[in-house]
Amino acid sequence: MPLPKPPFAGSCLCGSVQVSITAPPLLTLACHCRDCQKLCASAYSLTAMFPIDSFSCIGELIKGGLGSEGREHYFCKSCLNFVFSKIGAAQRINLRTSVLDDAASFEPFVEIMTDKKMPWVNIPAAHSFAGFPETIEDLQALMDEYSQR
Ligand SMILES: [Zn+2]
Ligand SMILES: [Zn+2]
Repeated sequence: MPLPKPPFAGSCLCGSVQVSITAPPLLTLACHCRDCQKLCASAYSLTAMFPIDSFSCIGELIKGGLGSEGREHYFCKSCLNFVFSKIGAAQRINLRTSVLDDAASFEPFVEIMTDKKMPWVNIPAAHSFAGFPETIEDLQALMDEYSQR
């Protein structure tokens, strides 16, 4: 599937939170880890990563999840829809793909944590990792390959 073309818009379940993005995605992924399964109340999470300066958001957010150091998960204050995460000092936003108006265009390029994958799940990702990509360089290589699609 070709890279989706910006700009992009999206909203939470109730519409109180509206997001807009002016850059193409850096990477799209599915994560099968147990935390994501619980956070997303689903078999896996879907993420579209964007440069943080391309992302804007209106509406009231609250933090949720485990509140662990360096991981911030933001939810709509009204409907509690999971909207995005910020991980550490990375200049990226991990948007939950499902909030995007055109979510279906953001096919996952990478799937991670397949060690925890529910056995009946089948995602046609170009790359699969049993755990997380090991290094920043691994992640950068995936983003480079993705950007050339
Ligand atoms: Zn909402
Ligand atoms: Zn996960």
